[in-house]
Amino acid sequence: QPTSSVILETRGLTKDFRGFKAIEDVNVKVQTGHIHALIGPNGAGKTTFFNLLTKFLKPTSGKILYDGDDITNHRPADIAQHGLIRSFQISAVFPHLSARENVRIALQRKLGISYQFWRSIRVLDQLNEEAQHLLEQVDLGAFGDTKAVELAYGRKRALEIATTIALKPRLMLLDEPTQGMSAEDVHTVTDLIREVVKDRTIVMVEHNLNVVSTLADRITVLNRGRVLAEGDYDTVSTNPAVMEAYMGT
Ligand code: ADP
Repeated sequence: QPTSSVILETRGLTKDFRGFKAIEDVNVKVQTGHIHALIGPNGAGKTTFFNLLTKFLKPTSGKILYDGDDITNHRPADIAQHGLIRSFQISAVFPHLSARENVRIALQRKLGISYQFWRSIRVLDQLNEEAQHLLEQVDLGAFGDTKAVELAYGRKRALEIATTIALKPRLMLLDEPTQGMSAEDVHTVTDLIREVVKDRTIVMVEHNLNVVSTLADRITVLNRGRVLAEGDYDTVSTNPAVMEAYMGT
């Protein structure tokens, strides 16, 4: 593969918590346009790895490259500006604003529009129209005026997808997108990710292996902080070491 098709890469990434290596020498390459899933038993280091990618944590050693640039020491706001956006943090949605207002605020943030500018009616109309369009893409067209807090769980997640897409990410980091969902909502969100998010690169932590098998182009299996296996679903799911790691928990 030519290096230009790799959007994100970690080299020797290590995170040491007072002598305990939660992540150790992890080398992962994410191809542009792929849905890349990160799986592994509890305590494998998935959350730590994700927090390193989004700069919530600083690595003990190793590097993170985004688009070939070393972003290891960049601040979270800097990388968001360059299109690396983490989603599915429910708290990121303003509960008492309507679905449309939530999307519109995300659009304003992306544009960096000052209050003085966007309060002009014409600009506001345009942003509301674009927000409505994004809501329709995630099947929330009829819920524009509904407060986020009043949306059912699955719809709240759809709203988060819309607010994330509004930020025009090049690489979306999804943290357990189907966690705590009913089977029906899992289905809806899986479809959304596949349809709405196509042409974008996604790295996701996901426990539901059905979702992983449906969505992921490539899977990295972590265990005890290290990469245990990597490949497509058939490759990793039939790997004896992977089966054993999952059995043991
Ligand atoms: P996963 O998300 O795969 O379940 P985590 O990344 O949450 O795994 O945790 C990996 C390991 O690192 C666990 O053993 C956990 O106890 C440990 N760990 C995570 N965060 C900290 C921390 N802040 N301090 C000490 N140990 C931690």
